Amino acid sequence: MDWNDSEDQADFRAEVKSFLEEAVPDRYKSDELGFASGFAWGEDRKSDDPEAVAAAAEWASALGGKGWIAPQWPAEYGGAGLSPMEQFIFNMEMTDANAPNVGGSGVSMLGPMLMVHGTDEQKAEHIPKILAGEVAWAQGYSEPGSGSDLASLQTRAIRDGDDYVINGQKIWTSGAHTADWFFVLVRTDPDAPKHRGISFVLMDAKAPGLSVRPLVNMAWSHVFNETFFEDVRVPVSNRVGEENRGWYVGMTLLDYERSNITGAVSARRTIDRLVKHANGDGKEQSRLSELGSIRHEIADRYIETEVMYNFSFRIISMQDKGLIPNYEASTSKLFNSELTQRLANTGVKTFGLHSNIWDKADARALLKASFIQSYVGSVASTIAAGTSEIQRNIIATRGLGLPRG
Ligand SMILES: Cc1cc2nc3c(=O)[nH]c(=O)nc-3n(C[C@H](O)[C@H](O)[C@H](O)COP(=O)(O)OP(=O)(O)OC[C@H]3O[C@@H](n4cnc5c(N)ncnc54)[C@H](O)[C@@H]3O)c2cc1C
Repeated sequence: MDWNDSEDQADFRAEVKSFLEEAVPDRYKSDELGFASGFAWGEDRKSDDPEAVAAAAEWASALGGKGWIAPQWPAEYGGAGLSPMEQFIFNMEMTDANAPNVGGSGVSMLGPMLMVHGTDEQKAEHIPKILAGEVAWAQGYSEPGSGSDLASLQTRAIRDGDDYVINGQKIWTSGAHTADWFFVLVRTDPDAPKHRGISFVLMDAKAPGLSVRPLVNMAWSHVFNETFFEDVRVPVSNRVGEENRGWYVGMTLLDYERSNITGAVSARRTIDRLVKHANGDGKEQSRLSELGSIRHEIADRYIETEVMYNFSFRIISMQDKGLIPNYEASTSKLFNSELTQRLANTGVKTFGLHSNIWDKADARALLKASFIQSYVGSVASTIAAGTSEIQRNIIATRGLGLPRG
């Protein structure tokens, strides 16, 4: 195996790197946002702070100017049509530069679904706005009683003339408070087997009867929400795909880069910062010289980060050969989300009680409180996008061929 870039890949990497050095606004470069930087664009564009709004607009325009808001989309839809390997390099460099993605789930989920299942009108209405970084989407799938077993969802849509009338509740809706549009799974046939009575609809965030209530998580971040629908009218023309076939629309995810390389790059950055600080400005607070066990832990995390890179390389080399990763993507998702938690834990332990200062504006906070904040914030990483137990089920059944429990 050759781990090095080919000549073309090295040229592409250099192009991305120099663009990022020039174009990423200082607000993101500074690392000030720390753990939250991945969500920064969606938050900033609706912020009360004019500097944040300006940074989000400047960044969307720079990335859009390069055609890199949707680097993975095919060129015929206005994407950059990058190969999986180029996306891999692009994602690596974006993470290394702390540059937030633009377009969120509009780029990663909704756009690709519309390309496959959308009508010409739906594509014409939504795709250009996603590509221009003008619109943010939220994903309304999970409900209070339906997460891992999503097909049991109960939000009800009843046809009334040219509209559906929708009643019910979603939960954990990330970015619903800053979204302009929602894509939502609703039940259109309560008598059909559960996967076959669901439809997929697009909903304007301003639709009367739609309301969003914040859920502030235990890291004091407002990332997700409860979303309520009371007699919300959605035109039937906003349904994507056939009625009662929404489950299959909702599960469409094109086979884009699935390596989780961003996790490996962030883990390496975090270890580098930890070691540098423990040997530098934070030497006095660090417990490295007093506790050999922490030195061993840091070495373990370093090795695990290398392992994470190898999981990512494995997936990207499969995709490069035209193979479709299946349980392999679950191994990397599982390992990455658990590594994020272990790394935060090690960071907190390295500085002992000094790590407990929560306020990143406090001059005594270590590395802007990033370890304690990610220690608390990363609890969600083994739940979001499929829990670790669900990933283990996939690895057990599809990877190891074990029987279903
Ligand atoms: C940060 C974050 C952001 C999110 N953003 C969104 C969003 O934008 N839109 C959206 O629709 N949803 C979102 N979610 C919801 C997420 O998809 C669900 O939380 C997740 O699928 C788990 O569902 P649940 O919370 O209902 O837990 P449950 O499914 O009720 O699981 C509870 C526990 O039981 C275990 N379990 C369940 N089934 C099995 C099984 N078959 N075998 C073994 N163990 C099992 C689970 O692993 C878990 O430990 C988000 C969640 C988080 C944490």
